[in-house]
Amino acid sequence: MKKVPIRMCTGCKERKEKKALIRIVKTTQGNIEIDPTGKKSGRGAYVCPRIECIESLKRKDLSLAFKVNIEEEEFFTLKELLFAYLENSSKGGSR
Ligand SMILES: [Zn+2]
Repeated sequence: MKKVPIRMCTGCKERKEKKALIRIVKTTQGNIEIDPTGKKSGRGAYVCPRIECIESLKRKDLSLAFKVNIEEEEFFTLKELLFAYLENSSKGGSR
């Protein structure tokens, strides 16, 4: 049987299949980005593609996941990115 990679959502703390989650990556340049391909290098965190989970993300938890302190502003920008990403994908606009 093939092993399915499981990751934990940083919002609801549920464990889910990696491909069912959105990957957030802290790139080697130090930018926090959404990584839809899951292939960017850097430390990653995961969140379900749900508004509730994005809302319940905590700066502290993400700081722990990335092992760096995330600034308030950076955190805010990330949430905006996630909401925009969610909105795009719910329109069915897959690239
Ligand atoms: Zn979740």
